[in-house]
Amino acid sequence: MTFSGEGKVYLVGAGPGDPELLTVKAYRLLQRADLVLHDELNPPEVLAVAGPQAVLENVGKRCGKRGVPQEEINRRMIEAARCGFEVVRLKGGDPGIFGRLAEEIEALEAAGVQFEVVPGVTAGTAAAASLGVSLTDRRTASHVIIVTGHRAASSEKRAKTNWKALAQHDATLLIYMPGSDFANLRDELLAAGLEPETPAVIVSRAATPAQQERATTLDNLDRLPPMESPAILLIGRCVGSARKRLSAECMSLALAEAGLSVART
Ligand code: SAH
Repeated sequence: MTFSGEGKVYLVGAGPGDPELLTVKAYRLLQRADLVLHDELNPPEVLAVAGPQAVLENVGKRCGKRGVPQEEINRRMIEAARCGFEVVRLKGGDPGIFGRLAEEIEALEAAGVQFEVVPGVTAGTAAAASLGVSLTDRRTASHVIIVTGHRAASSEKRAKTNWKALAQHDATLLIYMPGSDFANLRDELLAAGLEPETPAVIVSRAATPAQQERATTLDNLDRLPPMESPAILLIGRCVGSARKRLSAECMSLALAEAGLSVART
C-alpha cells in the first residue's frame, strides 16, 4: 500500500568513496534530496554532492562505536517520507552488499512507504579495478564469492562455515570486513584445500586518494601488516598479476630508498 502525496525513500549505493564513481542517478538524487541519512563510509567529497537544501545526518557506526540503531533509522526514513520529503538513505558501495538493505526494505514496505533501490559500485569491484585485475577470467576464475571476515573471527563461527565451499581453486574470494588477524582464515582455507601459493591482495580505502595495497600469498596471509579501515581482501589466482606488479613496485621502491636503481626492460 502506498499513500499518494507522500515522499519517497531512495536506498542509494554511493560507491567506494570516489565521487566520480557515483552513478548519475545517485548524483542526481543527492542533489535534490531533502534528507540524506548516510553511513560512516561516505567521505566528505561524496556528501558534498548533496544540494544546499539537504539535511545531512550520519547514522553509521564505526570502530566499535554504536551508531543510530536500525529501528531508529527506519523510523526516521518513514517519518520523513510521510511528511512528503525525498529521503536518500546513502550507503557505501552497493546497498545490497552487507548493508542491511533487506531490513530497511521490509520496514518501508510494512509502513507502506514508496521506495527505490539504486545500486552502486561495491568495494570488491572497485578494489579489483584499482589493481587492474578482472574478478573473473575464463582461464582461472569462473566465479566470485563474496563473504565477510567475521566467519573466521571465532571458533564458533569457524565451525559453522563451509570452508570447502569457499576454498575453490577457480574462484575469486572477496572478503569484506576482513579484520587484521588472518591466521585463522589462512589455516581454514589451507585445510580446506586451497594452495599455499594462491595470491592474495589487501586493498585499504580503495578508489580514494588514500588507497594502499599489499600483496602476498595465502600461506603468508598472517604476515600482512594492519591496514587502515575500510579494507578488503581479495584471494584467488586472478589477483596474481596484481601481486606480481605490486611486488615489482615494492622492489623498485626499496632499491630507490637504498639509493640504487634497476634498468627497466
Ligand atoms: N555495501 C558496501 C560494503 C559494506 S560493509 C559495499 O558494497 O562496498 C563495509 C566493508 O566494505 C568494509 O569493512 C570493507 O571491507 C569494505 N569497503 C567499503 N568501502 C571500501 C573501500 N573504499 N575500500 C576497501 N574496502 C571497502
